[in-house]
Amino acid sequence: MKNKIILLGPPGAGKGTQAKLLAAKNGLAHLSTGDILRDEVARGTDLGKKAKEYMDRGDLVPDQLIIDMIRGRLDESAGFILDGFPRTVTQAEALEKIVAMDIAINIALSREDVIKRLSSRRVCRKCGKIYNLLYNPPAVDGVCDECGGELYQRDDDKREVIENRYDVYEQATAPLIGFYKERGLLVDVDGSKGTEEVTEQIAAALVS
Ligand code: AMP
Repeated sequence: MKNKIILLGPPGAGKGTQAKLLAAKNGLAHLSTGDILRDEVARGTDLGKKAKEYMDRGDLVPDQLIIDMIRGRLDESAGFILDGFPRTVTQAEALEKIVAMDIAINIALSREDVIKRLSSRRVCRKCGKIYNLLYNPPAVDGVCDECGGELYQRDDDKREVIENRYDVYEQATAPLIGFYKERGLLVDVDGSKGTEEVTEQIAAALVS
C-alpha cells in the first residue's frame, strides 16, 4: 500500500476528516500543518505569535517557517499523511528534497460548496473531531459525540475569512495539481460526495 500520502484540496474539502480516518485505519502518522500551527498559537510560542496574524486573515504563513516546522516531523521509516502541506510550489519543491512521496490525492470541491461547508463546520476543542452542522451534526448540540468536549467554530471559518482562504487556495495551492500530475503522482477524488464514499475512493487509489 502507498503510505507516503499528500492530501490536496481547498479548505473544507474534507482533508482533515479523511486524514484522521486513514491514519487510524492504517497506522499512519497524521501531520496537519494547520493543527500544529493552532497548537503553537494556543501555547503562545514564537512561531505561534508570528503565524497568528496570517492565519487570522486566512493568508498563508511564510514558506520558510512552515518548511522548518515540518522538516523534523517527517519520519521516513513509517508512513504518514500530509494534510494542508504542501500549500505552495516552493513548499512542494522543499518536500521533494526531504522525502519521496508515493501519491497526491486531490479532493476537489467547488467554491460554492467550500463556503457552505466551512461556515457550518465545528471542531471539538478536546479531540479535534470535525463536525458539520448540515451534514454530520453531533447528537447533542455543541458537544462532541466521541469525548464530550466542547465544539467550537474556528476563527478562520467565519464568513469574511472563508472567501479569502478560497482565493488564496486558487492562487497559491491549486498549481500543485499540475505539479503532481507532471510527476505521475496525482489522483482526483470527488469531494462533494459523503465521507464514506470519499474514503472508499481514497482507499482504492492507495492500493492501485
Ligand atoms: P488549515 O487548518 O489547513 O486550513 O490551516 C489553517 C491556516 O494555517 C491556513 O489558513 C494558513 O494560515 C496556515 N497554514 C496551514 N498550513 C499551511 C501551509 N502549509 N503553508 C502556509 N500556511 C499554512
